[in-house]
Amino acid sequence: MRSFLIAGNWKMNMGPKETADFFGQLDDAVQQEKPGVEAAVCPPFISLPAAFEARKPGSAVKIGAQNVHFEDNGAFTGEVSTTMLNELGCDFVILGHSERREYFGEDDAIINKKVKKALADGITPIVCVGEVLDERKSNRHFDVVKTQTTGSLAGLSASDAGKIVIAYEPVWAIGTGETASPEQAQEMHAFIRKELTGLFGQDVADTIRILYGGSMKPDNAGELMQNPDVDGGLIGGASLKADSFAKLVSIAAEQK
Ligand code: PEP
Repeated sequence: MRSFLIAGNWKMNMGPKETADFFGQLDDAVQQEKPGVEAAVCPPFISLPAAFEARKPGSAVKIGAQNVHFEDNGAFTGEVSTTMLNELGCDFVILGHSERREYFGEDDAIINKKVKKALADGITPIVCVGEVLDERKSNRHFDVVKTQTTGSLAGLSASDAGKIVIAYEPVWAIGTGETASPEQAQEMHAFIRKELTGLFGQDVADTIRILYGGSMKPDNAGELMQNPDVDGGLIGGASLKADSFAKLVSIAAEQK
């Protein structure tokens, strides 16, 4: 059975001090291991050491990065490697976020290289897919998400595919306050799982967690996570405050 994952994408927010404050304010109950629910936050690179230092010993809240390069090391100014993330102990890395696709020119081929590198080095990729508003309005959203999914995961073995997390993030819902309806989310998540079944077989597809992302917050998280194929959330704005992040984790814990 799949466990829920509540993952905070802090984007370019929360410097080292705010990161330490966040962990200081995080309710102890949220940090305890909960059956069926995993929690993680993904601060900016510069705040990762502060996150590891401020996280209470024994806390079940995992820490991830928002990006990684696909090479081991070398002349790639401004980039960070999987070795560096592993040195700190990062469990996750967000890859293919729509903001990276839109503002930094990342395409499915680059994302695919990053996914393979993260998997090779033991970091769980959270692979983001999702359509923009025009694509949904013109009924191309399934085609777009299929292309992104197959392109980002091209060449993965079934056993590697079983280790990834997918985040369906309709771009029109990210940071806009507008959320996909539970029906729209379930429809797309079921579609993604069907595609994963075609690529890797039913058993593997059944183990892959598919998160919803796009203005998820405590008010709407319950109805989204009630859907059979919604296995948690990738959350931007609502993950920046310790109390709202904690609520999201509790809501996930109530689902199963
Ligand atoms: C995101 O950027 O991954 C996201 C889902 O942001 P928000 O929750 O703020 O819409």
